[in-house]
Amino acid sequence: MSENIFYDCIVVGGGPGGSTAAAFLSKRGKRVLLIDKEKFPRDKTCGDAISGKSLSILEELGLVGEIERADHGEIDGVLFSSPNGTVASIPFGKGGEQIAKGYTCRRQVYDNLLFQNAKKSCDVLEGMVATALVKENGVVAGVRALGADGKEYEFRGKMVIGADSVNSVVAREIRGAEVDPKHTCIAYRAYYSGITGMTGKLEIHFVKSIMPGYFWIFPMENGLANVGVGMVMEDMKKHGTDLGKAMEDITRNNPLFKERFANARMVTQLKAWQLPFGSKKRKVHAQNVLLVGDAAGLVDPFSGEGVGNAMLSGKLASEVAYEALVAGDTSELFLARYEERLWNAVWNELSTSYKMQQLGKHEFLLNFVVGKAAKSPKAREAISGTLANKEAKNEYSSPLFYLKLLFE
Ligand SMILES: Cc1cc2nc3c(=O)[nH]c(=O)nc-3n(C[C@H](O)[C@H](O)[C@H](O)COP(=O)(O)OP(=O)(O)OC[C@H]3O[C@@H](n4cnc5c(N)ncnc54)[C@H](O)[C@@H]3O)c2cc1C
Repeated sequence: MSENIFYDCIVVGGGPGGSTAAAFLSKRGKRVLLIDKEKFPRDKTCGDAISGKSLSILEELGLVGEIERADHGEIDGVLFSSPNGTVASIPFGKGGEQIAKGYTCRRQVYDNLLFQNAKKSCDVLEGMVATALVKENGVVAGVRALGADGKEYEFRGKMVIGADSVNSVVAREIRGAEVDPKHTCIAYRAYYSGITGMTGKLEIHFVKSIMPGYFWIFPMENGLANVGVGMVMEDMKKHGTDLGKAMEDITRNNPLFKERFANARMVTQLKAWQLPFGSKKRKVHAQNVLLVGDAAGLVDPFSGEGVGNAMLSGKLASEVAYEALVAGDTSELFLARYEERLWNAVWNELSTSYKMQQLGKHEFLLNFVVGKAAKSPKAREAISGTLANKEAKNEYSSPLFYLKLLFE
């Protein structure tokens, strides 16, 4: 039984961050326990857009083929509309030639693939809710959890990786509970069928009634669409925006959408969740502890993408955990190399995105850049030219990447 085993590492949370960390570390021969409060496959409130960063780690895990075999949507471009209603459609290609394709994949499917992959090389327990860290002489020595059977469990290990999302129990224990409205976004999402005018593009709409925020329609498989709205918590409070109502109003009354949604049906509940933006550096390690993904607060503050950074941080954490375990040194000082590598890998991008988020609060700028893309073949050509660059290609499926290019 897992309670009697002394693990090298206990990973709390089996989303993209935790499953990636657990898979990489256990494949290198370390004894890993992965626990999650849910039973997989489970839903996760998300836009389901798979970024180039996620795809490259999926490739390292050998899972791209699995995504292609599973239910997924295929994307051939992005479409924006500005607050004044101008629409710009940008294909992933140059002169009609398709450069690359992007994917959407319901998180119920995507996360299950990652979780089942981790399960091949580590111990897993589902329906196991972490409630606290076990401490010995003030030092983290494992995880306390509540099982689906109502019993309390204690798992012991040399290290703990916290991948338990925005309300992380592990993060709370090393840095206290914190929700910073300036660096947290609230987003609502529901699946719809029957929306007309879908073109295989990720649609981002800067609708006047939810400025500064955006409304998205992402095509999924079999005519399904992922539809949602998101806004920074501080702006929501300032403008008194009720995002759920705003979304209903957009789909019923906005001239760009009311026809398209006239015969559409919401096929799931509208659900809301928080996105901890990586526009500030939070504490991500302590003695015997590393944090990854939303637990570390790494969501892109402009695009709202967090799966790629969850997987990347999971991979980096697995590497540092491996080095620490081999060195027999899991001290805070040794683990500081995780923080250094993580910020080296993501901070430039996150701070640029934060600047873009601030610029995107100005309606006239959005009207200008989207208008530029709509009118000017040259602007669209500039985007295609940038795509020739390999690093940019990795970003091709991130819709706001194209908008960033227009701002530049
Ligand atoms: C509406 C919305 C739209 C989004 N759209 C996109 C998008 O299109 N593309 C994109 O890349 N990102 C998007 N994001 C962000 C993305 O969903 C997250 O950044 C990503 O899921 C983070 O992965 P993670 O592994 O850190 O956490 P999660 O995916 O949240 O996984 C955490 C896991 O921990 C488990 N857990 C939590 N607490 C405990 C506990 N106490 N004990 C045990 N287990 C626990 C949970 O059950 C869960 O399985 C969106 C977010 C929202 C809210």
